[in-house]
Amino acid sequence: MRTTGWLAARIAAVRPTTSHARVLTLDVPGWPGNDPGQHLDIRLTAEDGYQAERSYSIASSGPGERVELAVDTVPDGEVSPYLVDVAEVGDVLEVKGPLGAYFVWHESDPDPVQLVAGGSGIVPLLAMARAHDRSESPVPFRLLYSVRSPDDALYRDEILDLAGRSLDLTWAYTRAAPEGWPEPVGRLTPDRVAAATWPPARHPLTFICGPTRFVEAAADAMVATGHDPARVRTERFGG
Ligand SMILES: Cc1cc2nc3c(=O)[nH]c(=O)nc-3n(C[C@H](O)[C@H](O)[C@H](O)COP(=O)(O)OP(=O)(O)OC[C@H]3O[C@@H](n4cnc5c(N)ncnc54)[C@H](O)[C@@H]3O)c2cc1C
Repeated sequence: MRTTGWLAARIAAVRPTTSHARVLTLDVPGWPGNDPGQHLDIRLTAEDGYQAERSYSIASSGPGERVELAVDTVPDGEVSPYLVDVAEVGDVLEVKGPLGAYFVWHESDPDPVQLVAGGSGIVPLLAMARAHDRSESPVPFRLLYSVRSPDDALYRDEILDLAGRSLDLTWAYTRAAPEGWPEPVGRLTPDRVAAATWPPARHPLTFICGPTRFVEAAADAMVATGHDPARVRTERFGG
C-alpha cells in the first residue's frame, strides 16, 4: 500500500493494556490502509515549534482510516510517557505511513509462521495473528511471548482468546511467573527458544520483534538451531 505524507490523526480512544502501556485508536482521514506488521511514524509538535518523531507498529491491518497502536512507557523517554499518560481523546498529532514492506505477513504465504515477541514487540505480531485469525489461511501460527511477568503482557486477554482458537502460544517470564509455573524464570536461552518454536524442518517464516538485544538473542538462537537466516525476519524497537 502506498505511503502517505504527514496526515492529521485524531485520538479516538485510549485504554490501558498494562499498568505502563496503552492502546491508542487514531482516526486518520486519508490513511490508505496497511498490511499486518507495518509501522508508522508519529510527529508531535510543541507550542514553541519543537518537534519529536518516533516509529510505532500498527496493531490493526486492512483497509479503513482507523489505526490502532500500543505504546509502552520507556521510563525517562521523551515521547512514550506522553502518549501513555498525557495524550487524550480528541488530541491531534501527525502520522506518516504505512512503512515497511519486509516485516509483513501475507495471507497467501504458504508456510507455518513463528512469532517471537519481547515486551511491546508483540504489537506488529498481534496484527499478524489477528489477520490470520480473520483469514481463511490454513497455515499454523505459533507465538513465543517473553514478558517480565503476566501483568506485563500487552493485549494479554486477546492473546489468550486467540490461543483458544488460531494460535499456539508459549509464555516466557523473565522476572516473575504464575504460581507453579513449570519453566525457569529468566531470559530466553537457545534451548528454550528451540523448544517453543517450529523446528527448521517445518520451514517456518519467523518474525521476531522487541528490544534490540532481545531480538538479536532470539534471532541468533533460531539460526543456531538451524533456521535459514533469510527466513528469520526481525524488527528492533531500540533500547
Ligand atoms: C519500527 C519501530 C516500531 C516500533 N513500535 C513500537 C510500538 O509498537 N510500541 C512501542 O511502545 N514502541 C515502539 N517502538 C519504539 C519507539 O519508537 C520509541 O523508541 C519508544 O517509544 C521510546 O521513545 P521515547 O521518546 O519515549 O524514548 P527516547 O527519549 O527516545 O529514549 C529514552 C531512553 O530510552 C532508550 N530507549 C529508546 N527506545 C527504547 C525501547 N524501545 N526500549 C528500551 N529503551 C529504549 C533510549 O536509548 C534512551 O536512552 C518502535 C520502534 C521502531 C524502530
